[in-house]
Amino acid sequence: MSKSFLFDFEFDSIRLSQAAEQILRWTKEDQHHCRYVVTPNVDHIVKLQTNKQLQAAYRHASMILADGWPLVWASRKFGRPLPERVAGSDLPAALFEHDLTKDRHTKPTQVFLLGAAPGIAAKASKNIQKKWGHIQVCGTYSPPLGFEKDPAENQKIIDRINLLSPDLLILGLGAPKQELWIKEHHQQLDVKVALCLGATIDFMAGHKSRAPRWMQKWGLEWTHRMLSEPKRLAKRYLYDAVQFPRILWREWRKTGRPV
Ligand code: UDP
Repeated sequence: MSKSFLFDFEFDSIRLSQAAEQILRWTKEDQHHCRYVVTPNVDHIVKLQTNKQLQAAYRHASMILADGWPLVWASRKFGRPLPERVAGSDLPAALFEHDLTKDRHTKPTQVFLLGAAPGIAAKASKNIQKKWGHIQVCGTYSPPLGFEKDPAENQKIIDRINLLSPDLLILGLGAPKQELWIKEHHQQLDVKVALCLGATIDFMAGHKSRAPRWMQKWGLEWTHRMLSEPKRLAKRYLYDAVQFPRILWREWRKTGRPV
Protein backbone atom coordinates (compact mmCIF):
# COMPACT_ATOMS: atom_id res chain seq x y z
CA MET A 1 0.00 0.00 0.00
CA SER A 2 1.39 3.40 -0.85
CA LYS A 3 1.99 5.80 2.03
CA SER A 4 2.03 9.54 2.49
CA PHE A 5 4.12 10.90 5.35
CA LEU A 6 2.23 13.69 7.09
CA PHE A 7 2.32 15.16 10.61
CA ASP A 8 4.83 12.42 11.64
CA PHE A 9 2.59 9.54 10.57
CA GLU A 10 2.36 7.26 7.54
CA PHE A 11 -1.08 7.86 6.10
CA ASP A 12 -2.42 5.26 3.68
CA SER A 13 -2.64 6.90 0.31
CA ILE A 14 -5.74 5.07 -0.88
CA ARG A 15 -9.36 5.59 -1.84
CA LEU A 16 -12.38 4.45 0.17
CA SER A 17 -12.99 1.45 -2.10
CA GLN A 18 -9.33 0.34 -1.83
CA ALA A 19 -9.43 0.67 1.96
CA ALA A 20 -12.58 -1.45 2.08
CA GLU A 21 -11.01 -4.12 -0.16
CA GLN A 22 -7.86 -4.27 1.94
CA ILE A 23 -9.78 -4.51 5.22
CA LEU A 24 -11.93 -7.29 3.80
CA ARG A 25 -8.82 -9.14 2.64
CA TRP A 26 -7.49 -8.92 6.19
CA THR A 27 -10.72 -10.36 7.57
CA LYS A 28 -10.23 -13.43 5.38
CA GLU A 29 -6.61 -13.99 6.40
CA ASP A 30 -5.71 -16.60 8.91
CA GLN A 31 -3.72 -14.32 11.18
CA HIS A 32 -3.96 -14.41 14.94
CA HIS A 33 -3.60 -10.80 15.90
CA CYS A 34 -6.16 -8.05 15.68
CA ARG A 35 -5.27 -5.30 13.23
CA TYR A 36 -6.80 -1.90 13.76
CA VAL A 37 -7.64 1.11 11.62
CA VAL A 38 -7.67 4.76 12.71
CA THR A 39 -9.38 7.63 10.88
CA PRO A 40 -7.76 10.94 11.87
CA ASN A 41 -9.38 14.32 11.42
CA VAL A 42 -8.04 17.76 12.39
CA ASP A 43 -8.97 17.22 16.03
CA HIS A 44 -6.94 13.99 16.18
CA ILE A 45 -3.92 15.74 14.66
CA VAL A 46 -4.20 18.43 17.34
CA LYS A 47 -4.49 15.80 20.09
CA LEU A 48 -1.53 13.88 18.65
CA GLN A 49 0.77 16.87 19.28
CA THR A 50 0.61 16.37 23.04
CA ASN A 51 -0.88 12.94 23.73
CA LYS A 52 1.96 10.39 23.78
CA GLN A 53 -0.37 7.43 24.34
CA LEU A 54 -2.39 8.43 21.30
CA GLN A 55 0.86 8.67 19.31
CA ALA A 56 1.71 5.11 20.37
CA ALA A 57 -1.77 3.94 19.37
CA TYR A 58 -1.27 5.50 15.95
CA ARG A 59 2.15 3.87 15.52
CA HIS A 60 0.61 0.43 16.06
CA ALA A 61 -2.29 1.00 13.65
CA SER A 62 -2.34 -1.12 10.48
CA MET A 63 -4.10 1.57 8.48
CA ILE A 64 -4.35 5.36 8.83
CA LEU A 65 -7.07 6.99 6.74
CA ALA A 66 -7.55 10.75 6.42
CA ASP A 67 -11.06 11.56 7.62
CA GLY A 68 -11.08 15.30 7.08
CA TRP A 69 -10.67 17.56 4.09
CA PRO A 70 -8.06 19.81 5.74
CA LEU A 71 -5.71 16.81 5.96
CA VAL A 72 -6.23 15.92 2.30
CA TRP A 73 -5.76 19.59 1.37
CA ALA A 74 -2.52 19.73 3.42
CA SER A 75 -1.24 16.52 1.82
CA ARG A 76 -1.63 18.14 -1.61
CA LYS A 77 -0.04 21.43 -0.55
CA PHE A 78 2.95 19.59 0.90
CA GLY A 79 3.40 17.51 -2.24
CA ARG A 80 2.47 14.19 -0.63
CA PRO A 81 -1.05 13.96 -2.01
CA LEU A 82 -3.74 11.70 -0.67
CA PRO A 83 -6.21 10.66 -3.39
CA GLU A 84 -9.36 11.48 -1.42
CA ARG A 85 -10.92 11.90 1.98
CA VAL A 86 -11.86 8.55 3.49
CA ALA A 87 -14.47 9.26 6.15
CA GLY A 88 -14.58 6.64 8.88
CA SER A 89 -18.36 6.82 8.82
CA ASP A 90 -18.36 5.81 5.14
CA LEU A 91 -16.29 2.70 5.83
CA PRO A 92 -18.97 0.28 7.11
CA ALA A 93 -21.23 0.80 4.08
CA ALA A 94 -18.24 0.50 1.71
CA LEU A 95 -17.15 -2.69 3.46
CA PHE A 96 -20.59 -4.21 3.51
CA GLU A 97 -21.14 -3.38 -0.18
CA HIS A 98 -17.77 -4.81 -1.14
CA ASP A 99 -18.18 -7.92 0.92
CA LEU A 100 -18.09 -10.83 -1.44
CA THR A 101 -19.17 -13.49 1.04
CA LYS A 102 -22.41 -13.96 -0.81
CA ASP A 103 -21.44 -17.54 -1.50
CA ARG A 104 -23.80 -19.56 0.69
CA HIS A 105 -21.04 -21.97 1.62
CA THR A 106 -18.92 -19.23 3.17
CA LYS A 107 -19.48 -17.95 6.67
CA PRO A 108 -21.10 -14.46 6.60
CA THR A 109 -18.97 -11.60 7.86
CA GLN A 110 -19.48 -11.22 11.60
CA VAL A 111 -19.52 -7.72 13.06
CA PHE A 112 -19.46 -6.60 16.70
CA LEU A 113 -20.51 -3.06 17.63
CA LEU A 114 -18.86 -1.64 20.75
CA GLY A 115 -19.93 1.77 22.02
CA ALA A 116 -22.67 4.44 21.86
CA ALA A 117 -25.40 4.87 24.48
CA PRO A 118 -27.45 1.85 25.61
CA GLY A 119 -29.86 0.62 22.94
CA ILE A 120 -28.24 2.57 20.10
CA ALA A 121 -25.97 -0.23 18.84
CA ALA A 122 -28.93 -2.64 18.82
CA LYS A 123 -30.80 -0.18 16.58
CA ALA A 124 -27.75 0.13 14.31
CA SER A 125 -27.59 -3.64 14.19
CA LYS A 126 -31.22 -3.90 13.01
CA ASN A 127 -30.59 -1.31 10.30
CA ILE A 128 -27.49 -3.14 9.11
CA GLN A 129 -29.29 -6.47 8.95
CA LYS A 130 -32.15 -4.87 7.01
CA LYS A 131 -29.89 -3.30 4.41
CA TRP A 132 -27.09 -5.86 4.14
CA GLY A 133 -28.51 -9.32 4.68
CA HIS A 134 -25.13 -10.99 4.13
CA ILE A 135 -23.64 -9.20 7.16
CA GLN A 136 -24.23 -10.66 10.58
CA VAL A 137 -24.07 -8.35 13.60
CA CYS A 138 -23.15 -11.01 16.14
CA GLY A 139 -22.97 -8.76 19.20
CA THR A 140 -23.33 -5.25 20.57
CA TYR A 141 -22.29 -3.68 23.85
CA SER A 142 -22.51 -0.23 25.36
CA PRO A 143 -19.87 -0.08 28.10
CA PRO A 144 -20.64 1.99 31.22
CA LEU A 145 -18.99 5.37 31.72
CA GLY A 146 -15.42 5.06 32.96
CA PHE A 147 -15.17 1.42 31.84
CA GLU A 148 -11.70 1.95 30.42
CA LYS A 149 -10.25 2.38 33.91
CA ASP A 150 -11.87 -0.76 35.31
CA PRO A 151 -9.82 -3.93 34.62
CA ALA A 152 -12.76 -6.23 35.43
CA GLU A 153 -15.03 -4.38 33.00
CA ASN A 154 -12.34 -4.44 30.32
CA GLN A 155 -11.91 -8.18 30.76
CA LYS A 156 -15.68 -8.62 30.55
CA ILE A 157 -15.73 -6.75 27.23
CA ILE A 158 -12.83 -8.80 25.87
CA ASP A 159 -14.46 -12.10 26.92
CA ARG A 160 -17.77 -11.04 25.38
CA ILE A 161 -16.11 -10.22 22.08
CA ASN A 162 -13.85 -13.29 22.05
CA LEU A 163 -16.78 -15.60 22.64
CA LEU A 164 -18.07 -14.50 19.23
CA SER A 165 -14.69 -14.03 17.42
CA PRO A 166 -16.05 -11.42 15.01
CA ASP A 167 -14.31 -10.56 11.76
CA LEU A 168 -14.89 -6.86 12.33
CA LEU A 169 -15.11 -4.87 15.53
CA ILE A 170 -16.55 -1.37 15.16
CA LEU A 171 -15.49 0.88 18.02
CA GLY A 172 -17.71 3.90 18.60
CA LEU A 173 -16.21 5.29 21.79
CA GLY A 174 -14.99 8.68 20.56
CA ALA A 175 -11.38 9.82 20.26
CA PRO A 176 -8.97 9.26 21.86
CA LYS A 177 -10.74 6.65 24.02
CA GLN A 178 -11.30 4.13 21.22
CA GLU A 179 -7.71 4.38 19.93
CA LEU A 180 -6.21 4.04 23.43
CA TRP A 181 -8.49 1.13 24.26
CA ILE A 182 -7.68 -0.84 21.13
CA LYS A 183 -3.94 -0.18 21.46
CA GLU A 184 -4.10 -1.53 25.01
CA HIS A 185 -6.21 -4.60 24.25
CA HIS A 186 -5.83 -5.60 20.59
CA GLN A 187 -3.42 -8.40 21.45
CA GLN A 188 -6.03 -10.01 23.72
CA LEU A 189 -8.79 -9.87 21.11
CA ASP A 190 -9.88 -12.69 18.85
CA VAL A 191 -10.91 -10.27 16.09
CA LYS A 192 -9.52 -9.86 12.57
CA VAL A 193 -9.86 -6.08 12.19
CA ALA A 194 -11.04 -3.31 14.54
CA LEU A 195 -12.19 0.05 13.19
CA CYS A 196 -12.10 3.22 15.31
CA LEU A 197 -15.11 5.10 14.00
CA GLY A 198 -16.37 7.66 16.57
CA ALA A 199 -20.05 8.46 16.17
CA THR A 200 -20.62 5.97 13.32
CA ILE A 201 -22.78 3.63 15.43
CA ASP A 202 -25.03 6.62 16.21
CA PHE A 203 -25.24 7.41 12.50
CA MET A 204 -26.05 3.81 11.56
CA ALA A 205 -28.77 3.75 14.21
CA GLY A 206 -30.26 7.00 12.91
CA HIS A 207 -29.67 8.46 16.39
CA LYS A 208 -27.48 11.26 14.99
CA SER A 209 -27.67 12.56 11.45
CA ARG A 210 -24.74 12.94 9.12
CA ALA A 211 -24.31 16.11 7.11
CA PRO A 212 -26.06 16.10 3.72
CA ARG A 213 -23.88 14.90 0.82
CA TRP A 214 -23.40 18.41 -0.57
CA MET A 215 -21.96 19.57 2.77
CA GLN A 216 -19.63 16.57 2.89
CA LYS A 217 -18.55 17.31 -0.68
CA TRP A 218 -17.75 20.93 0.17
CA GLY A 219 -15.79 19.98 3.28
CA LEU A 220 -18.50 21.29 5.59
CA GLU A 221 -19.35 18.16 7.57
CA TRP A 222 -17.76 19.71 10.66
CA THR A 223 -20.22 22.65 10.46
CA HIS A 224 -23.13 20.25 10.55
CA ARG A 225 -21.66 18.38 13.52
CA MET A 226 -20.95 21.57 15.41
CA LEU A 227 -24.46 22.89 14.85
CA SER A 228 -25.97 19.61 16.01
CA GLU A 229 -23.85 19.45 19.22
CA PRO A 230 -22.73 23.07 19.79
CA LYS A 231 -22.21 22.74 23.54
CA ARG A 232 -19.81 19.82 23.19
CA LEU A 233 -18.09 20.74 19.95
CA ALA A 234 -17.87 24.55 19.57
CA LYS A 235 -15.04 24.95 22.09
CA ARG A 236 -13.13 22.02 20.57
CA TYR A 237 -13.43 23.32 17.01
CA LEU A 238 -12.37 26.80 18.10
CA TYR A 239 -9.30 25.38 19.82
CA ASP A 240 -8.48 23.23 16.77
CA ALA A 241 -8.91 26.24 14.47
CA VAL A 242 -6.16 28.03 16.41
CA GLN A 243 -3.86 25.02 16.74
CA PHE A 244 -4.09 23.54 13.25
CA PRO A 245 -2.47 26.50 11.38
CA ARG A 246 0.45 26.30 13.85
CA ILE A 247 0.81 22.58 13.12
CA LEU A 248 0.75 23.30 9.37
CA TRP A 249 3.43 25.94 9.85
CA ARG A 250 5.65 23.50 11.79
CA GLU A 251 5.09 20.81 9.18
CA TRP A 252 6.11 23.22 6.45
CA ARG A 253 9.31 24.21 8.30
CA LYS A 254 10.16 20.61 9.02
CA THR A 255 9.43 18.90 5.75
CA GLY A 256 9.41 21.46 3.00
CA ARG A 257 7.69 24.26 1.20
CA PRO A 258 4.14 23.77 0.00
CA VAL A 259 3.83 23.27 -3.76
N1 UDP B 1 -18.96 6.92 23.78
C1 UDP B 1 -19.09 5.70 24.43
N2 UDP B 1 -18.47 5.52 25.61
C2 UDP B 1 -17.68 6.48 26.17
C3 UDP B 1 -17.53 7.70 25.49
C4 UDP B 1 -18.20 7.91 24.29
O1 UDP B 1 -19.78 4.80 23.93
O2 UDP B 1 -17.13 6.24 27.23
C5 UDP B 1 -19.66 7.11 22.49
C6 UDP B 1 -20.74 8.15 22.50
O3 UDP B 1 -21.94 7.61 23.02
C7 UDP B 1 -20.84 8.47 21.02
C8 UDP B 1 -19.40 8.31 20.54
O4 UDP B 1 -18.72 7.61 21.55
O5 UDP B 1 -21.64 7.49 20.40
C9 UDP B 1 -18.73 9.66 20.35
O6 UDP B 1 -18.31 9.76 19.07
P1 UDP B 1 -17.78 11.14 18.49
O7 UDP B 1 -17.10 10.85 17.21
O8 UDP B 1 -18.84 12.15 18.54
O9 UDP B 1 -16.73 11.49 19.56
P2 UDP B 1 -15.54 12.45 19.41
O10 UDP B 1 -14.40 11.61 18.99
O11 UDP B 1 -15.96 13.44 18.34
O12 UDP B 1 -15.47 13.05 20.77
